[in-house]
Amino acid sequence: MMEEAGRVLARLEEAGYTAFFVGGFVRDNVSGREIHDIDLASSASPEKALELFPNAIPTGLKHGTITVKQGGFLFELTTFRKESEYEDFRRPSGVEFVSEIEEDLRRRDFTINAMAMDRHGKLFDPFDGAGDLQRGILRAVGEPDQRFREDALRMMRCIRFAANYRLQVEKETWLALLANARLLKHIAMERVRSELERMMEGPFPEDGLKLLADSRLLRHTKERLAFELADWTSNQLPEAVLRLSRTTPEIRWLVLAKAMNLGQLDAEPLWRVLTFPAKEGKRVAAFLGFDQFLHRELAETVDSQGRDHADPDWLTILAEAVPVPFKRAVLLFGESAAKEWILTADFLTQTGSSWWPEEALQTAVEKLIREGEEFLRQMPVKRMDELALGGSELQAALNRSPGPWMGKLMRKLVEEVACSRLPNGREELLNWAMERQGEFT
Ligand code: ATP
Ligand code: MG
Repeated sequence: MMEEAGRVLARLEEAGYTAFFVGGFVRDNVSGREIHDIDLASSASPEKALELFPNAIPTGLKHGTITVKQGGFLFELTTFRKESEYEDFRRPSGVEFVSEIEEDLRRRDFTINAMAMDRHGKLFDPFDGAGDLQRGILRAVGEPDQRFREDALRMMRCIRFAANYRLQVEKETWLALLANARLLKHIAMERVRSELERMMEGPFPEDGLKLLADSRLLRHTKERLAFELADWTSNQLPEAVLRLSRTTPEIRWLVLAKAMNLGQLDAEPLWRVLTFPAKEGKRVAAFLGFDQFLHRELAETVDSQGRDHADPDWLTILAEAVPVPFKRAVLLFGESAAKEWILTADFLTQTGSSWWPEEALQTAVEKLIREGEEFLRQMPVKRMDELALGGSELQAALNRSPGPWMGKLMRKLVEEVACSRLPNGREELLNWAMERQGEFT
């Protein structure tokens, strides 16, 4: 990929322009990290660049960016530019193309992102980004206060880069971030979410969450984020959150949701405010719903036994009591919610946090972590549509007019089958329904 990008640079140089590798690629190259894409910059105006690369896609002409195809790769090529005036604490109101790379690097956010490299591998690094990388420091280019006021998104980027690259935010930069935190309200939620996501998926999400807590940055989002994360100070971060990097990115938001004590109904509105795709909000809601349902059912079982939670017999009772509520929860919230619940509960339990407030129920959680997958395998059906009998068929066979009884009866049938108390056969289901239909009105 680098070789092919080098060819693009060579082509530009042959035509009399100066051209460099820039941005994240140079940063990741200098620090020996894996490369995912390559950004290029040159002194050629967008029009001239398009002439040189007729196959290029004019992806962002206004900002001087075209996408060049070369050797099966796509490279973003941007004309050196300077962003003079900023409006509304976010985008520059106009861009001005310049002929010098140094001008271009000056408008970039952090020194580690403001390095350029020519096609021979020679570094051009006027702000000592390489030195900062080596010292482990994240520093704004130029005057940090001004840089955050120009574009408040840089504060989120600051925290994301500090976390993902394990950098210490340089003092003036950090003070400027604290001073300007409230400007985050000018930034679209979508961009805030994108930074959050990249931080959460990164190698050290807990570091980012600590910085967010320290700066209280999330108190200042454009739309209010009504969850604890926005109000936590760094010494309030729960143990599980401090160990997030030890778990897979897929369940990190679930751990966070649980650690924030969110309820099933909180998830979708919150995730919507964060502009996540709807299915993400549903996924979190299903996980929380699964958890709450299971908790309620098991707590009731303990209470109905009228037993002391410390009673050793409770363990025996538990062994029998646990599978049914688990399987019912699977029917209600889906198999993937169950699997995610197991993973998340396992992770939290390993961090030594108690999953539910009642200590006695911890035994149930541990049993489900161990045997939940087995319970799932035992289930002949996991969804209503796997039942060998459809609703209309049932209604016709019983010769009753439609009504609430139908849903109730169907739910009962699927439960009986899922818990292996009734075979999933048309005849058996119909017989059971005939016999018991009086209970369903
Ligand atoms: P990665 O793609 O690995 O997240 P990156 O540094 O390439 O990191 P991009 O968002 O792709 O990040 O931006 C490319 C470059 O553009 C950055 O390295 C930086 O120099 C510059 N840049 C991006 N966003 C801003 C910003 N808000 N303010 C100033 N410069 C920015
Ligand atoms: Mg990039």
